[in-house]
Amino acid sequence: MTQPPEGQAVRAIDVIRKKRDGHELSRAEIEYLVRAYTDAEIPDYQVSAWLMAVILRGLTRTETSVLTDAMLHSGDVLDLSEFSAKKVDKHSTGGVGDKTSLVLAPLVAAGGLIVPMISGRGLGHTGGTLDKLESIPGFNVNLSIPEFRRVLKACGCAMIGQTSEIAPADRKLYALRDVTGTVESPYLICASIMSKKLAEGIDALVLDVKTGSGAFMKKDEDAEFLAELMVETGERMGKSVIALITNMDQPLGLCVGNSLEVAEVTEVLRGGGPEDLKELCLELAARMFQLGGTADTVAQGKTQAKQLITSGKALETFRQMVALQGGDSRVIDDPGLLPRAKYTQEVGATKSGYVTAMDCEGVGIACVVLGGGREKKEDAVDPAVGIVLHRKLGDSVTAGEPFCTVHFNSETKGARAKELLLQSYRITDAPLEHKKKLVHRVIRGSGI
Ligand code: URA
Repeated sequence: MTQPPEGQAVRAIDVIRKKRDGHELSRAEIEYLVRAYTDAEIPDYQVSAWLMAVILRGLTRTETSVLTDAMLHSGDVLDLSEFSAKKVDKHSTGGVGDKTSLVLAPLVAAGGLIVPMISGRGLGHTGGTLDKLESIPGFNVNLSIPEFRRVLKACGCAMIGQTSEIAPADRKLYALRDVTGTVESPYLICASIMSKKLAEGIDALVLDVKTGSGAFMKKDEDAEFLAELMVETGERMGKSVIALITNMDQPLGLCVGNSLEVAEVTEVLRGGGPEDLKELCLELAARMFQLGGTADTVAQGKTQAKQLITSGKALETFRQMVALQGGDSRVIDDPGLLPRAKYTQEVGATKSGYVTAMDCEGVGIACVVLGGGREKKEDAVDPAVGIVLHRKLGDSVTAGEPFCTVHFNSETKGARAKELLLQSYRITDAPLEHKKKLVHRVIRGSGI
């Protein structure tokens, strides 16, 4: 396909058709699409068509890095050089029950590093850090940049969403992808994550790339491809990046749903909480400490993280951040103050046996159906609803015993979610033979 003649404007329809037909887009075309969509010059339906063409045709490495760069420069890139400590962050590719960001930001900040976290909302069947934080009454994720700096100065971490100043293109594209079936592209995920992370002015980034039935990348090789793409993109932009490929064949921890997850976060910050969630938080924190230079080895990083939890410093930093961002910090000592659903119902096993497989995406969809996520862009999220798991992979269960409890505000939605949950658990007579490790692989850039 030919380029528009010099001086002739790029048209959205031509860019869509070119990608639809499998051709490589030029820098000018990608930059046009990102800029014009950010400035509301082209409508959602044209960008939806283009996103679908990308899902089906993919992007080259050059297109991916141009897209990342265009999205990164759709707004400001923060300069945090006023902070002498290293600026580190972590980002996950999206999972079910994944609340590690809420643990890690205060934990790593309590260890002396700066964590300027810009996060996203729920996407598809996965939960979003911003939706979880907003279940804390009053918590403001829409800080201005001067406010963001003020919170960072006061407690070392701050957690906000994309603003009209920072990666605004991702904010719009992310919301559109969520409702147009265009999430699962490694190229779009890479550009989305890396554009907002690189706009934060960080020195180093730890990526948690999920694989399994609850991840966007269901197969290890796809997760590895995405991890390598992101590590390479980050390195090209001069950052230290490391990616952990981690298991998402079942939800992380026991709680799925915004305020239920916040309550679980406070347990971990007190030294309790479910083992898998604690293990992953320690792994990720250790890597953040290592990249940030406060630990030489992963083992040292884990020890540092454990001490910060035991001493209460991590919890105290969380309390400070919540208060500084306008949230009711009393929820930390009394999670009963978080929004609660009107009804709860246990879901009983239909037979005795062992949980040998879970459709983790099905659990995520059950939470969305309850109202804990969005089915349409403009949907409001219900912070109170969700699911508490009583059985996970490898556990035994007796017929009639509850394997989870649904928290709901609408009986119709509760019944639909219960159906989905019954379908999401596979219970067999024989026990699980092989339980996958939580961390499958670590992918480092050449500079690490
Ligand atoms: N998380 C993001 O920030 N973007 C994606 O596209 C997927 C997960």
